[in-house]
Amino acid sequence: MFVDGRFRASSGDDRIDVSFPYDGTVWATVPDGTAADVDTAVGVARAAFESDAWGDAKPSDRRVILNQIADTIDANTRELAELETLQNGKLLREMEQQMEALGEWYRYYGRICEEVESGRTIPVDKKDGQMFNYVRHEPYGVVGAITAWNSPLLLTAWKFAPALAAGNTVVQKPSEETPVSALRFAELVYEHTDLPPGVYNVVPGYGHTGAALTAHPDVDKLAFTGSTAVGREVAKTAGENLTKVSLELGGKSPNVIFPDADLNDAVNGVMKGIFAATGQTCMAGSRVLVHEDVHEEVVARLTEKASDIKLGDPRDPETEMGPVAFRGQWETVHEYVQSGLAEGATITVGGEMPADQPGECFIQPTVFVDVENDMTVAREEIFGPVASVISFEDEAAALDIANDTEFGLAAAIWTRDMDRANRFVETVQAGTVWVNEYRLIAPNSPFGGYKASGLGRENGREGLEEYYQTKSVWYNHAGEVGDPFVLDAE
Ligand code: NAD
Repeated sequence: MFVDGRFRASSGDDRIDVSFPYDGTVWATVPDGTAADVDTAVGVARAAFESDAWGDAKPSDRRVILNQIADTIDANTRELAELETLQNGKLLREMEQQMEALGEWYRYYGRICEEVESGRTIPVDKKDGQMFNYVRHEPYGVVGAITAWNSPLLLTAWKFAPALAAGNTVVQKPSEETPVSALRFAELVYEHTDLPPGVYNVVPGYGHTGAALTAHPDVDKLAFTGSTAVGREVAKTAGENLTKVSLELGGKSPNVIFPDADLNDAVNGVMKGIFAATGQTCMAGSRVLVHEDVHEEVVARLTEKASDIKLGDPRDPETEMGPVAFRGQWETVHEYVQSGLAEGATITVGGEMPADQPGECFIQPTVFVDVENDMTVAREEIFGPVASVISFEDEAAALDIANDTEFGLAAAIWTRDMDRANRFVETVQAGTVWVNEYRLIAPNSPFGGYKASGLGRENGREGLEEYYQTKSVWYNHAGEVGDPFVLDAE
């Protein structure tokens, strides 16, 4: 574990094997953190929050540290990208790009934490204007951050950078599938920056470690990325403890194609939406809604492109799609493929484990047609390279189908008709909407879910606000308190 600025042993003996999903090689083990470990880390984070070293740090001091973290990432992108790939099997070239961009999250929050205007004065209409009322933004204290395996250090940045910018301290529980990069990142941060010990701590472990962090009474704010099912559990516990919580959960995002779209771009957008990262992204465009006039053509093009995808070692620059991240995920995807077939959908390409790849985590890029929106493959998040293509007859039907889901993370529309695009943007229930694009994110653009896709936002100014609480301060300059038995609420 990485606690109080250094590695230390867990109080337990259980370990987690970390394997490379391409061929199944186990290349690391980490401790399976206990509830006692979580308690230690939270205690350390609390002490750091109350220390002069961190408590007295001004926004400009925090900006300096956030920039140092960004510089540290920049100097170590290759190593961090390799760690990510070895843990979850995502393409090394995608991970390198992600690591090259990662520093920007820290720089962005370093910059904007200096612009948070604590001290906004409010002209309250009291005591003949003799009351002075202003607002302070204060950090919560100890943040418990629980993250998923699909983009481990990116999801870390979405929590750690704003939490730090606002002056909190953090205990992170990374996914049991991908714990190594967070540990190495913490080590690098403490080797190369002035972050005081105890401000960032990492306790690896399975779900029980996350549950211990969620339930810990001294955690002031929880930030969770993961499945909707576990998110509900986290929210329940947070509700009992009245802990502030933000949740970034799953999706079943509609990627909607109209006949007037540039079909070449649209099909590339579908590929980007569902086959990039082997479909393991929360924002995957897993429901492909296609107007009936172009359905046949889009399916033909998509099928051809999907069958051309080059599978292989994610470290090879020629590879376009690697394995899914671990065997359990492969089994989940496989079961969904079987359920699609059983419920009457048809596969135009894929659906099998390829014979020519090592390990046990490869699945072919898969396209389902003849899908109805009430089938399991259209309703549940598969989190794998499986597109469910649904035909629609007009704009109203497209919108109905797009919104007929418990999720609301993202959506896209492909059309040249900007009035139609606007109607879609205004009506679709999703936290992110792309028009003639897919799978773009940025540090300064808020990201998060409607409906069962989450609570709160990450990134952008909204992402920073999640880490402040607001205090309203009243100064009486009038000298008169007035009637003590009447609440002056007018
Ligand atoms: P998961 O819910 O299984 O696990 C997420 C994290 O929660 C892990 O660290 C896990 O150990 C921990 N955990 C498990 N049980 C817990 C419990 N009872 N209490 C507290 N923590 C617990 O999700 P996953 O399989 O790691 O990740 C895939 C999911 O994450 C997908 O649903 C995907 O859509 C979602 N995701 C969402 C976003 C987003 O920004 N909206 C981003 C990436 C991934």
